[in-house]
This record gives sequence, C-alpha cells and structure tokens, in this order.
Amino acid sequence: MELFPLPASEVPSNAKVVWEKFSNQKTFDRDLYHYGTFPEGFAWGVSSSSYQIEGGWNADGKGLSIWDNFTQVPNNTVNNDNGNVACDSYNKIDEDLYMLRALGVKMYRFSLSWPRIFSNGTKQSLNPKGVAYYNNLINSLVEYNITPIVTLYHWDLPQDLQDIGGWENEELINLFNEYADFCFQTFGNRVKFWMTFNEPQVIAWASYGLGIFPPNVKNPGYFPYNIAHNLIKAHAKAYHTYEQYRKEQRGIVSISLNTDWGEPKYPNEPRELVAADRFLQFQLGWFAHPIFKNGDYPEAMKWQVGNKSELQGLPSSRLPVFSEEEKAFIQGTADVFCLNTYTSKIVYHSTRRLRPYSYDDDRDVSEEVKTNWPDTALKELKAVAWGLRRLLNWIKEEYNNPDIYITENGVGTEKRVTVDDTERIYFYKTYINEALKAHNLDGVNLKGYTAWSLMDSFEWLNGYNVGFGLHHVDFNNPNRQRTPKRSAHYFSEIIRPSIQHLVYTTI
Ligand code: BGC
Repeated sequence: MELFPLPASEVPSNAKVVWEKFSNQKTFDRDLYHYGTFPEGFAWGVSSSSYQIEGGWNADGKGLSIWDNFTQVPNNTVNNDNGNVACDSYNKIDEDLYMLRALGVKMYRFSLSWPRIFSNGTKQSLNPKGVAYYNNLINSLVEYNITPIVTLYHWDLPQDLQDIGGWENEELINLFNEYADFCFQTFGNRVKFWMTFNEPQVIAWASYGLGIFPPNVKNPGYFPYNIAHNLIKAHAKAYHTYEQYRKEQRGIVSISLNTDWGEPKYPNEPRELVAADRFLQFQLGWFAHPIFKNGDYPEAMKWQVGNKSELQGLPSSRLPVFSEEEKAFIQGTADVFCLNTYTSKIVYHSTRRLRPYSYDDDRDVSEEVKTNWPDTALKELKAVAWGLRRLLNWIKEEYNNPDIYITENGVGTEKRVTVDDTERIYFYKTYINEALKAHNLDGVNLKGYTAWSLMDSFEWLNGYNVGFGLHHVDFNNPNRQRTPKRSAHYFSEIIRPSIQHLVYTTI
C-alpha cells in the first residue's frame, strides 16, 4: 500500500464519524434490504484451518502441536473431542475439492500446519510427506482455478517450540521466519495470497490472558501485551522476508485480524464514543495500528494502559514499547486488510479503574446486543448484521480506505442442526447485504468475502458440538461423509447466479 506511514490516531480516532453517521439510524432504515450486486471479479471464497479439518495428527512424520496435546487431556474440550481425525482432510483432498467446485468459489483459504512441515518446528526437521500433502492440495486448487489463500499460522504451534517458551520466547520470531521463508520458497510459485497469523488478538488473549487455549497461561495484565509484541515483530519479519520473492512471485502478504463491532450504549455522549473507539483500538488497533499506520500502538491504548499502570503503582506501563527502529520495520507490513468478524457488542465507558491488572479491564465494558437470535445458534457470537457495515466503514476511515478482504464470517449452530440450517441462510443473507451496502453505498474497498466455514470442523473448546460449516460432516461415520447444507446451496447462488457445473450431493 502507498501512503505509509499514516499518522497516529487521535482519541477518539477520526473514525468516530461512523457512529455519528449510523448510530441514530432508525431501525427500519438500518435493516432495509439493499438491492445490488458486487462487481465482477469480486473474490468469493470459503475458509478452514489445518487443525480443525486435517486429522492425521501423527501421520507420516508430522510432529505434535500444542492443540494435539491439549485435546488429549480429559475435560479440556466438550465431550473430550479432539482433532485426531477431524474431517480427515489429510486423506480427503478430493472430497474437499468437490465441495469447493460445487460451491463455485474463486478462493479457498486454508492454513498450513507448521508441525506437519517442520515436525519439531525447525527447518532441520523438514517432513517431505507433509510438504507433499500441501503441494498436492495447492496443485489441485490451481488446476481447478481456485485461488489458494494460505495462512501460515492458525494456532497449531509445534509442541517442541512451546517447550522452549512458545511465543514468550523471542527466538520464535526467527523460527517463524524460517518457516515462512520455506513456505514462500516452496509454495510461492502457486500461492499468491499469504497471511502470517490468524487472529493474533485471540492468540494473545485466549492463550495468555484468559488461559483457556493452550498453553493456558492466565496472566491477563502482562502476558497478552508481551505475546502480541512478539507476534507483531514475527509478522513484520516474515513480511520483509517476502520481499526477496515479491518480484518473481508477485503475491501479497497480510494478517487476519479479528474484531467485534463496538456500538456505544449512549452514542450521544462524547466520552462513550471515546470508549467505543477504545474498544476497537484494543481489539483491532492493537495490531492494525502498528501494521497499517505508524509502527506503534494506538494512542488510546498507550494512554489507557500507561495511566492505569501508574494508578496501580507500577514502575512502567504494562504495554511494551517499540524502538524507533522497530516501528519503522513494522509500519506498512500488509498489502491488504484481512478481517475476521462475527458479531457486535454494546460498549460503555468503564469506571472500574483499579481492579486487578487485565487487558479486558483496560479496554472498557461490553455486553451482548439484544436480538431474537434462535437458541440453536452459538450465543456468544450473535448475528448483528448491521454491525458489519459500520465496522467496514470504521476500517475505511481509520486505515485510509485500504483494500479489504473479509477472511472469516459465519455462524455456529448446534450439532442438532444438520442440513436444515435456516439461521445460517439468514446470517449470510443479512451480513452479505450489509457488506454490499458498505461497498456500494459507502465506498468501502471491499474486494472479497470468505465464509467461515467450508464444512463443520473441530470447533476448539466446543469440539464437534457446534458447526460453522456450509457442509455438514458426519463425525460418527469413519468416512466423514460431507453433505451440503441448505446454506451451501444458498451461498453458491449468491456468489454465482449462473448455472451450477456440478450437482450438489453427499460425498
Ligand atoms: C477462528 C476459527 C473458529 C471461528 C469460530 C475464529 O475466531 O479463526 O478457527 O472456528 O472463530 O469459532
């Protein structure tokens, strides 16, 4: 992207115009259906991740990841589910390709399992069979004209690297870089769209703040900030490594950032806009501000954590500091903006100042938006479609109208919902319509939309109890039979109004 560095955000950022524009909209206007189409060339896709679909957890020389080990421990996941077999995509490339072709998507976003490629995380432990698996997948995608979008890291860290401290250890920055370098070199003649990390905010907060994801460290005041610091540096380093390949390979590199939309509870109060803005800065700006703006954390975050740390009597801020050299290295290290988003929260100013140190406490209070969402859907990720339009507008204002790809968006339904997933149809209908409004009415540079997910898969702590798939997978059947849900038909109609080439069927 041109125009780097962008100046630091103000407090609240100029993106506050989004609330000024939308927050007092009448419900009727807000929810009106917009008739229109995305331009030809709009990049439609679906998404998945290695640990969630592949299985083959110890097949053919693959090393173990932190998720392989975590899920073997009783009571860590619902029903003690694990990803040992998952959708068995390690053995079912053809079935996965069939679904992708039947849907008619242009892109498939999947992730590489680091320990399948380097079994102990270092290049000395190269596993040729793992490389062959991905070569096979990538070649087949290319053959069918489906663009591979590859995430290097979707949470399945090699256990051996966790054993040397994981992301706490700065050496991981170099090791990740070697892994990224290998992947660019090996797959980059066919892969033109890379993402370094999936949702670093979740890695930092769920794994090191809440402590619910491996390595289960519960240190909410310091560790998320320190881990994020290393993840940002690792991202920037891999981005710069790609420079060696860019001329020849002509690809793009980004990072998938996640956020909920934050709607102020009291939109007409200035301090509440500051709080809603801060909520977004803490979730999205934490990573996006350094990468897309000036190499540094948002002012709102530096001020808030610094101020609280002082009130807490600490000698320095709990938020680490980048050197000038590091800032220059980090700013501008993404070619497009990749967004994962699912829901919206109502935000209000927090008056709790001196509770125990916690990132969560630093970033104000949020609560659920009240909706009539059915009880078969995942409660914590309620469908609030109008939040998507506002969020896209906020990103446009805050990051100078970048090209945006939605790299995850979708809804979870309980296991008992198999193929008749009306709520998912409603979800995609309304969310995609809000994305269309952002594109057609507000001038947001939205270039692509990738649904989460291609098929039901291992849903982390929820195991197989919840499914996000456009396809149902029968996890009780050794064949892991895949069946298109109603939403798969619907999605394929939205993205390709013309004739289907393949007949939809159970495979
Ligand atoms: C993750 C996916 C996950 C989805 C639904 C996202 O945050 O990237 O791996 O399946 O949420 O829980």
